[in-house]
Amino acid sequence: MTGDTTPYWDACRRHELVVQSCAACARRVHPPAAECPSCGAADLAFAPVSGDAVVHTFTIVHRAFVPAFRGREPYVLAWVDLAEGARAFGQVVECPPEQVRIGMPVRVTFDHDDLPQWRPA
Ligand SMILES: [Zn+2]
Repeated sequence: MTGDTTPYWDACRRHELVVQSCAACARRVHPPAAECPSCGAADLAFAPVSGDAVVHTFTIVHRAFVPAFRGREPYVLAWVDLAEGARAFGQVVECPPEQVRIGMPVRVTFDHDDLPQWRPA
């Protein structure tokens, strides 16, 4: 992530998902950036999103390479398309890994570390 991500993490601590919105072209930008990747404008403001998304693609992790995730296998990591039009990353929870599908509706939820995760909608 580049740019000032403080508002994003502050919102996560409130269990609220916010995504930048470009003042010049209205594109939603995520992960947080200093400039709009579409038009180059630097006027990006964080705004809440619904938390509704669909699974764009995913992988089932059978061997965690991140120590904090060891013992949780198998688990699912996914890119999801937000209803507002940006793509976000996170773990899919509350669903057996073999039941996750591309196009599956999901909704944001937050874990005990205040990280956004995705559960079946
Ligand atoms: Zn823009």
